[in-house]
Amino acid sequence: MPELPEVEVCRLGITPHIINQQVIDVAVRNKKLRWPIPDEVQSIVNQTVESISRRSKYLLIKFQHGTLVLHLGMSVTIRVIDSSVPVVKHDHFDLSFANDKTLRLNDPRRFGAVLWFVDHIDEQGLLEKLGPEPLTDDFKHGYLFKKAQNRKVPIKTFLMNNHVVVGVGNIYANEALFQAGILPTTLAGSITELRLNQLTDIIKAVLAAAISQGGTTLKDFTQSDGKPGYFAQQLHVYGRAGEECLVCATTLEEIRQSNRSSVFCSKCQKD
Ligand SMILES: [Zn+2]
Repeated sequence: MPELPEVEVCRLGITPHIINQQVIDVAVRNKKLRWPIPDEVQSIVNQTVESISRRSKYLLIKFQHGTLVLHLGMSVTIRVIDSSVPVVKHDHFDLSFANDKTLRLNDPRRFGAVLWFVDHIDEQGLLEKLGPEPLTDDFKHGYLFKKAQNRKVPIKTFLMNNHVVVGVGNIYANEALFQAGILPTTLAGSITELRLNQLTDIIKAVLAAAISQGGTTLKDFTQSDGKPGYFAQQLHVYGRAGEECLVCATTLEEIRQSNRSSVFCSKCQKD
């Protein structure tokens, strides 16, 4: 599943090819994604892309009269390819531009989404209740401590709650807690402000490092084969259960929390 760094790298990868470009055709081959693709997307024809931004894991493509919202779900790949490239299975949605490029969305599992905010208004309240972006100044020292007061949930579950902070998915929650030396099971409300501030800095660093590593894959967004948006990362704990801790050589343990895998080192990480 793509996490925040993959979505941000996707944004960086597609932006230069579609910014300020005029849409000449919108093709909906299968409207049954996570939510039906609204017919209003046809109003984009002849409109020009003004900006491409990101909120949490949503890509927001802004036009003068509204915003096209893309969510990468479990299995979406988005590419900007030559408009002449033949359509393949699961290519559900195309935006074709006057520069002979097409933004093409492929989604085998159809958990992704293509939505339209009329006049830029988020009528479903999709983005309304989201917590701060982790890489902005809104996510700052003191914030997690304040949010964690009296919270009797494990810190890992707390971090992965989009109402607390967006974009800290399973991979980066595991990784940040390892680097912060905090066990994933520790109750959020029991952690000192100092340690939560350190965790805040580490979350920012871990996500920023992943985005800069993803920078090497930017060209993949313009190729019709391959899997853009997924990049090799150096991870300490995620996916390494049963292997040795890279710091102390203790065997890494794995538990399930909220039905997700948590991998940790019982020596490097403490309550
Ligand atoms: Zn260790």
